[in-house]
Amino acid sequence: MKIAIIGMGTAGVSVLKELVKSDQFNQMQIDVYDNPKNMGQGVPFQNDSDQLLINLPAAEMSLNLDNHREFYEWYENQSTFKFSNPKYLPRFIFGHYMKDYLQQYNLKYSNIQLVQEEVSELYIESKIGDTEVTYQVCTSKESENAQTYDVVFLCIGTLTYHDPYKLKGTPGYIQTPYPTYNTLDHVKDSDRISIIGTGLASLDVIRYVTAHHPNLPITVTSRKGHLPSVRGEMPELEFKYVTPDNFNQIKQRNFGNVPLDDAICLFLKDCATLEIPVETLVHRKQGDAIADLNYDLEHSEILGKFQSILELAKENLNWIWNSFSREDQKRFLSDYQWILKENSNPMPPQTARLIIEHIENGLIEIKSGLESVEHMDSEFQFQFKDGTSQQCDIVINATGSKTQLADLDSDDQLVLNLENRQVVQAHPLGGIQIVAETNQVISPRYGTLQNMYALGQLTNGINQSRNGVMMIVKQAVGVVHHLLDSKS
Ligand SMILES: Cc1cc2nc3c(=O)[nH]c(=O)nc-3n(C[C@H](O)[C@H](O)[C@H](O)COP(=O)(O)OP(=O)(O)OC[C@H]3O[C@@H](n4cnc5c(N)ncnc54)[C@H](O)[C@@H]3O)c2cc1C
Repeated sequence: MKIAIIGMGTAGVSVLKELVKSDQFNQMQIDVYDNPKNMGQGVPFQNDSDQLLINLPAAEMSLNLDNHREFYEWYENQSTFKFSNPKYLPRFIFGHYMKDYLQQYNLKYSNIQLVQEEVSELYIESKIGDTEVTYQVCTSKESENAQTYDVVFLCIGTLTYHDPYKLKGTPGYIQTPYPTYNTLDHVKDSDRISIIGTGLASLDVIRYVTAHHPNLPITVTSRKGHLPSVRGEMPELEFKYVTPDNFNQIKQRNFGNVPLDDAICLFLKDCATLEIPVETLVHRKQGDAIADLNYDLEHSEILGKFQSILELAKENLNWIWNSFSREDQKRFLSDYQWILKENSNPMPPQTARLIIEHIENGLIEIKSGLESVEHMDSEFQFQFKDGTSQQCDIVINATGSKTQLADLDSDDQLVLNLENRQVVQAHPLGGIQIVAETNQVISPRYGTLQNMYALGQLTNGINQSRNGVMMIVKQAVGVVHHLLDSKS
């Protein structure tokens, strides 16, 4: 069985790890593709500043579902990297832990080949009138160099960044904030810097830029101006009401769907049982960054419970989300998604304390109400809802990655090619169409592709908000089991 894994970040390494464990491994020839920089580390865990931390305690995140401490134990047993406060480790350390797996496999097994190039084309070969397909993978523009595979795992991670104010290519505009230690390469000490976006990527940039450009205050701005929440003490929780059994019963009465309001009702019952004051926590933000961060730091117990139940919802979102009608999915995205977004993937408390310190010392200013950014007379003009405006020389874009295929440009050429060659099709709510239960890609030309699987953010229309490491690892385990079951 010839297998290609395209993209060797968290998803790709996890898929490989599962394949290596299988009884059928000896009958496989596996080629793994990525550029030399990201091979085995992926984008979020690439080599970057040690100020960019994993957003959960190191002992709670690993590639091994049976041992959440595995990464931490790996860290303890190596001597290359040592940090004084290892509870929250830098992200690139996790990248080295993943890469260690890949390097060991590569040394040990001759049936694994590392192809240190990006894939430019992935297309289907099928004779006219035939339903058999094979998958062709190319790293150049020439199709005669294509390699043929029986099975493909598409693990290419996040799409490129949004460009909400159409500034890409403008001098002084930094379209992608990673690696952060390159963001200031062409920035002068006297340049005025603004960061657009106040999510997780923005925190990364703040951490790096404030440490290396301390002369002038940095404006951090977005429409709402809300920072992510601060991680509380998150206990293990279980749902009593939001369960597959309850969903199955409701589906029987509702034409195969669970109405969103019924699902919310069950969720609120679970919150009530766990004594989580949902209303208070959802509406706790006052619009003052220091007050909001302090609130979260001071309410770590109750907020932690809320974050845990949202995390639990995300872990189960596969069947929850895919039980909704399309209309209810849209309503969820417009009415509830922001609650999930603002309260999940919380920042470590030490990052929150640092941000408070920076605001108090005048190093950063968080500003809400951003309406437009334009480049005029060699500077950027920011216009705010309250009528005020501001100018700066450098803009760092931290608005997050695209989710819709319709927004892509040549920076996501592989996905555009996949769509053009009718291998994949857009999901109306983001990413590409896959079978929710198995991650098999649904082609508009060939139907369900039995042996082509997609994982990660590219599947966000189906795997809504399920892009954390542990969720990706779970997907990888499920997907490989599906493949092996179908072959046995
Ligand atoms: C900035 C940031 C921080 C995050 N921090 C955390 C965290 O602390 N904890 C957590 O649980 N989750 C975190 N996440 C979520 C994170 O996205 C996932 O946890 C996980 O890393 C995603 O894995 P992936 O394999 O889908 O993507 P990646 O790990 O990015 O891997 C995708 C790989 O595909 C490669 N690739 C892309 N195109 C091609 C091509 N054409 N050919 C070959 N290879 C290609 C890329 O080079 C990359 O190596 C973070 C995400 C971001 C963006």
